[in-house]
Order: sequence, then structure tokens, then C-alpha cells
Amino acid sequence: MGHTYLCFPAGKNKALSFSYDDGNAADRKLVDVFNRNGLKGTFHLNGGLLGQGNNIGADEVAGLYAGHEVAGHSLTHPALTRLSGEAVAAEILEDRKRLEDLAGYPVRGFSYPYGAWSRPLADRLASLGLAYARLVDATGDFRLEEDWMAWRTTGHHNRDLLAQTDKFCRLEARHGLHWFSVWGHSYEFDREDNWGLIEDACARLGGRTDVWSTTVIGMVDYVDAWRRLRLSAAGDVAENPSAVAVWLEADGKAVEVAPGARVRLRG
Ligand SMILES: [Zn+2]
Repeated sequence: MGHTYLCFPAGKNKALSFSYDDGNAADRKLVDVFNRNGLKGTFHLNGGLLGQGNNIGADEVAGLYAGHEVAGHSLTHPALTRLSGEAVAAEILEDRKRLEDLAGYPVRGFSYPYGAWSRPLADRLASLGLAYARLVDATGDFRLEEDWMAWRTTGHHNRDLLAQTDKFCRLEARHGLHWFSVWGHSYEFDREDNWGLIEDACARLGGRTDVWSTTVIGMVDYVDAWRRLRLSAAGDVAENPSAVAVWLEADGKAVEVAPGARVRLRG
């Protein structure tokens, strides 16, 4: 009998995410690049700094980031590791409230300002309703790690984005699950005059039918749903008690297990 494998949606085994910080005006151009290529992004905003300097204004958040993920980055961008617990709580919760007022949904994603984090801080953030928190440290590869409160991407876009894109596109190992995740700041493309980098990468990745483009919270919720999947010992019946559709591969065939459904995978 064949194996029953976990898959990304539509039976894919490659996923792609972009995670960009600070809500700078250059996000407009970056969102446009993503939209033109059918890709999703995650945007980490400081609720207390909207409209200041060259930042996106509060009135623009809902429209600009529609279809993408609005995520937190603290209210005013301090190094959280140097604040009291009370100050950390205020920075997280007030940021969430302001962003949620604009986005209209629970904001559960986060990236650490300056990448400053510690394990006790990560634990505190989890207790404030955050589902993941991104570091600036990177893995350099496409592993799917599940240490969500200390989540690391594949790398910053200046770290060989095109070479990594090429490597990711050529990956053929069907036995694995691969997640290419990129982080950065949109204003860096202005500063370094290298918009061509992200344009080229997105043009290559956007046209691929074997890649699942997802927000970061989309991945976190998907993994959570598949961890809660109930499989029979023989691997031929699956129950999905979650609100997210989960995909399995049985005998080489992709099968969708809809939210709340029980599905016979074989025969
Ligand atoms: Zn930042």
C-alpha cells in the first residue's frame, strides 16, 4: 500500500512567502509587483507610526494591503528586549488594536523590530495573541520550521535572491516540503536602486503552477490545520476538524479534505 503524504494546497509541495517591514511608501510599488504576478505578501506595520515621515497612512492600509497580510511590528518600533513586560504588552496590544481597526481582522503576525528577541520575550508575545514572530536571522534554505515565535526566513532579498529563486524553481524532490521565504524593507529597493531584483524574482515565481503563494499567517494556519488532522492507522481515512482545507497525497493522487469533512482517501 502507498503512503499518505501531507501537501500544501492543490497537492503542491513548494510554498512561497514575502515578509516586509515598516510600512514605507515604497510598499505601494512592492504591492504592485506582487499583484501583477499573482503573489501574496505579508506587511509588518507600526500602528503608532502610520502617516509619519514617509510611511503609509492609516487611510491607505485597508485598500493597499487588500489580499495580502497586515501584520504587527509593535506600536512605535522599540527594541522590545529592553522594555518592561508592561511596556511590551502595550506595544503589542495597541499596535494590534490600531491595525485591526483598519484591516478588519485579527492581526496575529509579527516581526521583531531590529530583530531583537529572546525566548522569554517570544513566550510573552505568544500570550498576547500572536501566532508567529519573525526574526531577521535566516536559514539560507527552504526548510519548513515550526518554531513560530522565533521564525526564520530563507533570507533577506539582498542575500542571493535570484540564485535562491533559481535553486527553488529547479527543486524536484517530491518527497520533501519546501518553503522559500524572503524578508526585507521595500525602501531598500529605492535606496539600492535594485527594483529589478524583486521584479525578476516575482516574474519567475509568479508564473509557476507548482508553487503555493501564501501569506505567513496562511502558512501558520495551514500547518496548524494539518497538525490537527485525524488520520486512520491505515492512512485511508482523514478527518479535518479545522476551518482550513488540508490537502493530502494518497497513492500519488492529491485529495482535498475540506473543513469539517471526513474523506476516504483510497478505493
Ligand atoms: Zn522595522
